[in-house]
Amino acid sequence: MELLYKSTRSESKTVTASQAILKGLAEDGGLFVPTSIPQLDKSIVELSKMTYQELAFEVMKLFFTDFTEEELKACINKAYDAKFDTEEITPIVKADGAYYLELFHGATIAFKDMALSILPHLLTTAAKKNQVKNEIVILTATSGDTGKAALAGFADVPGTKIIVFYPKDGVSPIQEKQMITQKGENTFVVGINGNFDDAQTGVKAIFNNKGLADEMNQSGYQFSSANSINIGRLIPQVVYYVYAYSRLLANEEICENERINVVVPTGNFGNILAAYYAKNMGLPIDKLICASNDNKVLYDFFITGEYNRNRDFILTSSPSMDILISSNLERLIYKIADCDANKNHELMSALSKNGKYEITEEMKSQLVDFYGNYATEEETAQVIKQIYQDTNYIIDTHTAVAACVYKKYKTDKKDKTKTIVVSTASPYKFTRSVMCAIDNKYSSMSDFDLVDELNKISGVEVPQAIEDIRSAKILHNTVCEVVEMQKVVKEFLEM
Ligand SMILES: *Cc1c(COP(=O)(O)O)cnc(C)c1O
Repeated sequence: MELLYKSTRSESKTVTASQAILKGLAEDGGLFVPTSIPQLDKSIVELSKMTYQELAFEVMKLFFTDFTEEELKACINKAYDAKFDTEEITPIVKADGAYYLELFHGATIAFKDMALSILPHLLTTAAKKNQVKNEIVILTATSGDTGKAALAGFADVPGTKIIVFYPKDGVSPIQEKQMITQKGENTFVVGINGNFDDAQTGVKAIFNNKGLADEMNQSGYQFSSANSINIGRLIPQVVYYVYAYSRLLANEEICENERINVVVPTGNFGNILAAYYAKNMGLPIDKLICASNDNKVLYDFFITGEYNRNRDFILTSSPSMDILISSNLERLIYKIADCDANKNHELMSALSKNGKYEITEEMKSQLVDFYGNYATEEETAQVIKQIYQDTNYIIDTHTAVAACVYKKYKTDKKDKTKTIVVSTASPYKFTRSVMCAIDNKYSSMSDFDLVDELNKISGVEVPQAIEDIRSAKILHNTVCEVVEMQKVVKEFLEM
């Protein structure tokens, strides 16, 4: 049966999965959502005998119904291959009373690789299926990790160009170095004088500029998005929740149908929304625990029902979660508004006009499976140190936010349900913050000395992604103002 997609903002026409992937964002500014969430059609026991790639096919075939089996398997096999440094793709580490689901074993050592290693293949396949002649221009705003993962995924992919905007002073030194050393004739990296929300708003404005779209078309280009609003990123993320559950079952850590909780360090709300989709597909997930850093918009939202971005933007040691507008939340809002696009549109208009909106009591009552909390900078550092001292396991700052919120949840709710803490980045990506959390004596050391020190105290091999940038040449040095973003795009495309 064909599953179609529609926008969260109007009751207009439906599109196929491949069309939704190509467009990224709907023309009315809404996000594409499946018209229903499919149910898993294999039992968890059957799934627990599969490899990551086999299981990925079982999940994705239910959402991407206009891809042939051959096309989808080709995309999956090109994505989840030796770029990952472990055959399991997403290993689970049991530590400190939780299961850490490590999503950082791909090319750029952050969880963004889970989706961005497959998106270029889904996108180029979708272009072929829809007889697209234009070159696809990927336009992306990044809070640090998406940028590099998208660049790595799209570099030198024929028929594509990729432009990444990042906040010049809002990413870690290693994140920045990873991006500005990116090779590939079709890649372009730009720092902006602004924060992530400025970058994301700027990119959305370029997307929604109809005049520019026409000009692009005349020059043989069309935009698409690698941001987590693209359904082609969201669905591949559903896979690892099903896989993680099936691994726990295979390893007899849980019984069949036992419900588990998941804790997700959250920024744009993509990763936790994927867990929500997995739950709606029939995976026995109980609570979805949403962990925020000091930019605790989502925590406040789950408590009060009001989403309010009118507050200071705080730069933290978990920069990939420094976000005040969590784009993917719109998909949840639409769902709890009974899929009423007009109602959702009203709320989103209020958000862009007044910076806030409030949901009704009835909508709020559908959020009972969610729990929100946050970790301060000090708490985040403390939890890294404590887990290292107690177990020798070293987690990155984003994962630490989740670990801390999990502790708060247990104290708060006295819930002993077995729990997956989603581990979204390698500690090697945020070496300085991680090492200084463990001991302040590290604060005077250089970034790469810290890498070697982390290797010494953890015994975890230095990832290839870090070795690669030690001596890499800087290839991108463009910096622009927020208002110049469109101009910069046109210059790069020589329009
Ligand atoms: C992007 C990112 C997050 C936030 O994920 P969302 O899907 O945007 O909520 C958390 N941790 C790391 C390391 C990330 O790169």
